[in-house]
Amino acid sequence: MNRYLALLCLLLCQQAFGQDVQKAKNTVALLSSETFWGRGYTKNGMGKTADFIVSEFLSYGLKPMDQKDFRQNFEMPVNTFPGKMSASINGKTLSPGKDFIVFAESGTKAGTGKLRQTDSASFIDPDQRFIVLLKDKLTWSVSMQQADYTGIQVDKRALDSPPESYAIDIQNAFEPVFKASNICGIVPGTRKPDSLVIITAHYDHLGGMGSDTYFPGANDNASGVAFLLNLAKYYASNPQPYSMGFLCFAAEEAGLVGSKYFTENPLKPLANIRFLINVDMVGTGEEGITVVNATQHPTEFKVLNKINDAQKYLPKINSRGKAANSDHYFFSEKGVPAFFIYTQGGISAYHDILDKSNTLPLTEFSDLFKLFVSFNQSLMEK
Ligand SMILES: [Zn+2]
Repeated sequence: MNRYLALLCLLLCQQAFGQDVQKAKNTVALLSSETFWGRGYTKNGMGKTADFIVSEFLSYGLKPMDQKDFRQNFEMPVNTFPGKMSASINGKTLSPGKDFIVFAESGTKAGTGKLRQTDSASFIDPDQRFIVLLKDKLTWSVSMQQADYTGIQVDKRALDSPPESYAIDIQNAFEPVFKASNICGIVPGTRKPDSLVIITAHYDHLGGMGSDTYFPGANDNASGVAFLLNLAKYYASNPQPYSMGFLCFAAEEAGLVGSKYFTENPLKPLANIRFLINVDMVGTGEEGITVVNATQHPTEFKVLNKINDAQKYLPKINSRGKAANSDHYFFSEKGVPAFFIYTQGGISAYHDILDKSNTLPLTEFSDLFKLFVSFNQSLMEK
């Protein structure tokens, strides 16, 4: 009888985890699609993503963390590019996103001119305050300011000769009061509901650059959102002794804006957080995972490794010290014990138009899910 039960359980578990990976793949594909426009600041990309996460939380049966609303609203300034985005160098038209990207802080500029070389990779037209930087890899970002110049990074491979002349038509729109929301849900604990284990992931990405180009952000961080949603769904039907909190932050790419706002306006006392795990870029895993803050929390890091060694989930768990590189940071600074976990290996697309869902393998997704469930359990055993 026990053997049958065990077999049945195994089948059910495999089925559940199997569906989870497919569900995650669907979520990553959806959030990286044109509809969500890079989950940024134009075409309501971030707003649509927030709506999607709220509806998912509702369907799982999560409760709003503040008992009223899943959204924690805040405002920020941001420089956006909703309109024209064209550039040519030496008479050759460049493809936006592929051959060039605009400096995130750029202002509007249209016209033609000549360029002067200032070093091996920099070219300027000082009269028009226009800059061209040659790069081996294009990497976009978000700026909360607008500068009094316009610049573009150009992929070296797009040009046959050094830049001499240019024609551009670039439009920016500076938004002094952009409205964004963190999405905050909770599964109340059964024994010690005031104590919390929290999972976080930013749901924004870089958005769109002009009216025709967007940055999909499949790995960064549709993968983390898909991972968080799978855990939220799992914990909604499997409540734990402690409350499980799920925070999806906005405006991480603009400088950890959403998570900083949360730590300054916490919906639960930060001192009640037993542990927080942030996930950002978890769509690969061929070379294992890296744990930021591993050196800050050696006891928990040891437990994580013990589980992984016993179950052989991930090929490797790399230890890293403190780093201000994602949403765990302001929690750590306020004394909340936190890890930031990301996967390694596989594709290397980062902050470019190649970070797509169809090339994101989700190699270790299922193993990472199981590792998290066991690790979270260990946090509540005391
Ligand atoms: Zn990210």
